[in-house]
Amino acid sequence: MEQEIERYNTRLKNASPREIIGFFAEEFKGRIAFATSLGAEDQVITEMIAGIDPALRIFTLDTGRLFQETYDLLDITRKKYGLNIRVCFPKAGDVEEMVNKKGINLFYDSVENRKMCCFVRKTESLQRALQGMDAWICGLRKDQSVTRQEVKTVEWDDIQKMIKVNPLANWDLDTVWNYIRSQKIPYNTLHDKGYPSIGCLPCTRAVLPGEDIRSGRWWWESPENRECGLHRK
Ligand code: SF4
Repeated sequence: MEQEIERYNTRLKNASPREIIGFFAEEFKGRIAFATSLGAEDQVITEMIAGIDPALRIFTLDTGRLFQETYDLLDITRKKYGLNIRVCFPKAGDVEEMVNKKGINLFYDSVENRKMCCFVRKTESLQRALQGMDAWICGLRKDQSVTRQEVKTVEWDDIQKMIKVNPLANWDLDTVWNYIRSQKIPYNTLHDKGYPSIGCLPCTRAVLPGEDIRSGRWWWESPENRECGLHRK
């Protein structure tokens, strides 16, 4: 598998994100899905998929703790691009058991509790959403955080046991925003209020200009812990 991934990376070395998506949409037809969190990068990818292969499976994970602005954006995006963005929920019984055992805001109490909440509300539903797929598309970029500097366009995801495609791995933040503005892509209004990276409401806060763009996520933890379990980096 390592060699296959290396071959993909070599072949797509100078390809644009649109070409990368187009290539994998064909190569893994019916076996590839895009997981959108409706962040800036994911909105770029959604717009590209709408133009390349609107039938490609797109889904988002509703943890039950998202911002109203994120739900509004989901609705706007579905309507603008005519896409069926599937909403996946965690198992109600698991959420209920966790909350009743550990508390509604358990994530502030320890890294262990926070990771448990991310697992119950996100990772488990991601695993179910990806069942039957051989590859998935993500909006990871190298310069997003200290945990993401090794991101490659094509990787083996040893959590999901499938290929992970990061079409925007080599884009910087300015390129993302120039594209959003030039293509009039809808984006989360919280981005204009100091939130460069948006997750669940209780675990996301605004950052100051110049601060690391993911420093508002789980800000009470040290930077190397700040992944939710969907990605190792
Ligand atoms: S980001 Fe926070 S609220 Fe959301 S799933 Fe993780 S710990 Fe739970």
